[in-house]
Amino acid sequence: MSTFHTTETRTLAEAAVAASTCTRCRLSAGRTQVVYGTGSPDADLMFIGEGPGYHEDKQGIPFVGAAGQLLNTMLEEIGIRREDVYIANVIKCRPPGNRDPMPDEIESCKPWLEEQLRLIDPAVIVTLGNFATRFVLDRQVAISRVRGERFTVDGRVVIPTFHPAAILHGGGMASKQMESLRADFAEVRRALDERPQPAEEQLGLF
Ligand code: URA
Repeated sequence: MSTFHTTETRTLAEAAVAASTCTRCRLSAGRTQVVYGTGSPDADLMFIGEGPGYHEDKQGIPFVGAAGQLLNTMLEEIGIRREDVYIANVIKCRPPGNRDPMPDEIESCKPWLEEQLRLIDPAVIVTLGNFATRFVLDRQVAISRVRGERFTVDGRVVIPTFHPAAILHGGGMASKQMESLRADFAEVRRALDERPQPAEEQLGLF
């Protein structure tokens, strides 16, 4: 039997293997490794960041540096375990010197994230910062204007919020931005709690 899977039929793990040798854009030349994504393939909640930084590139896991520590803290605050969510980025390879991703790099990388969204099929998506928010909403919005709002895209709830790195490099933990981040995570918790539960679960049969 053939072990070849088309993009229509492959699993998330198979897609990750395919992505690991991607050369669709110039970023492949400078990376240590592709940072595909991490977490539960059945997650109800998915986070989308911008792209790997230094530590992510070294470890192959998104959000393991300082911004990741803040993301972990925020998840803890709303009672969600990191292993129960899925975390990915708009681009899968670290840009040199952590510069912003270029439009053609985002375009080249787009099929990977679109496939992740299709396979994971999360009910709620949190977009972290401008790049992820613009990608998912497909509009040139400013994060400061749309953060904390609920949008519906392809039947999923989308909640944009500040990128944790913007807090760390901006106002810090006592800032207004941090207060907004907290409020937005509380909104994420509410959105998850409000989503319809399968009848069996409600009856406690499983
Ligand atoms: N910032 C991001 O956008 N993604 C990461 O994985 C790490 C930092």
